[in-house]
Amino acid sequence: MREIIKVLDWAYPRLCPGCQSPSDREDRYWCWECIRSFTFFDGAGVCSICGYPAEGALKHAFVCSACREHHPAFDRARAATDFRGTIQEQIHAFKYNHALWMKQDLVDLLQGGLEAHFRSTSVDVVVPVPLFSTRQRERSYNQAGLLAEELALRIDRRFDGTSLVRIRETETQTHFNAVKRRQNMSGAFSVARPEWLRQRSVLLVDDVMTTGSTLHECAKALKRAGAREVWALTIARKRGDHV
Ligand SMILES: [Zn+2]
Ligand SMILES: [Zn+2]
Repeated sequence: MREIIKVLDWAYPRLCPGCQSPSDREDRYWCWECIRSFTFFDGAGVCSICGYPAEGALKHAFVCSACREHHPAFDRARAATDFRGTIQEQIHAFKYNHALWMKQDLVDLLQGGLEAHFRSTSVDVVVPVPLFSTRQRERSYNQAGLLAEELALRIDRRFDGTSLVRIRETETQTHFNAVKRRQNMSGAFSVARPEWLRQRSVLLVDDVMTTGSTLHECAKALKRAGAREVWALTIARKRGDHV
C-alpha cells in the first residue's frame, strides 16, 4: 500500500497550497518551509482569558480591556495561529469549498495549539461549535465537527457532536462589530443532553475566533448545562474588534 502511495505521489505530487511546490511532508499538503513561516502564539503576550495577542512584544500576563468589561463565559480561549495568508485561504476552502483533504493539516495546527496552551489529559470531552440544522444540510458537513472529531481521536478523548445545538439561525457576522455580534449570537445555543456534559471539562472547538461572541455563547450554554470547565480552541485568531 505504501508503495502505491509513493508511486501516486510521484505521478501526482501533492502541491503545497502555500507555495505551489510539491510538498516534502508525507501525507500532508503544507510544506515544511511554509509551516516554518506561520506565526504560532505561545503563552506569553496574549490575554490570559481570551488569548488576544497584544500588539508589540508584551511578555507579562495581562487581561485585555474587552475581557475586563465583559467577562467571557469560557474559562480560557486560545488559537494556534494568526488568521492570514495560506491559513486563511485553506480554512475558507475547508469550510465552504469542500477542501476536506486539508483536514489533517488543519488538525495538526489545532493539536499544536492544544499542546501549547492546554493539557489534553485534563479534557473529558471535545465539542464542536454547531451549525444550525438547515445550514448543515446545505453544506452537508460541519467543518468544526470534522476538526473536533479528528482531534478527539488523536488525543483519545470522547467526541460529542450532538449535545450542543444551535437553536436558531443567526445572521452572518462578517460586517458586525463586537457589540452587534454579541447581540446577534445571544441565546443561539442550547444543550440537548446536559447529563452528558455535567461536571465535565469541555474542549470547545471551532476553526476561527473573531470577537469570541460565538464561543462565549456556546460556553454559556455549556456552563448552564453543568460543565465544570470550558476551554475554547481554534486554529486561528482574527485580530481587531473582540468581545
Ligand atoms: Zn509551501
Ligand atoms: Zn481578553
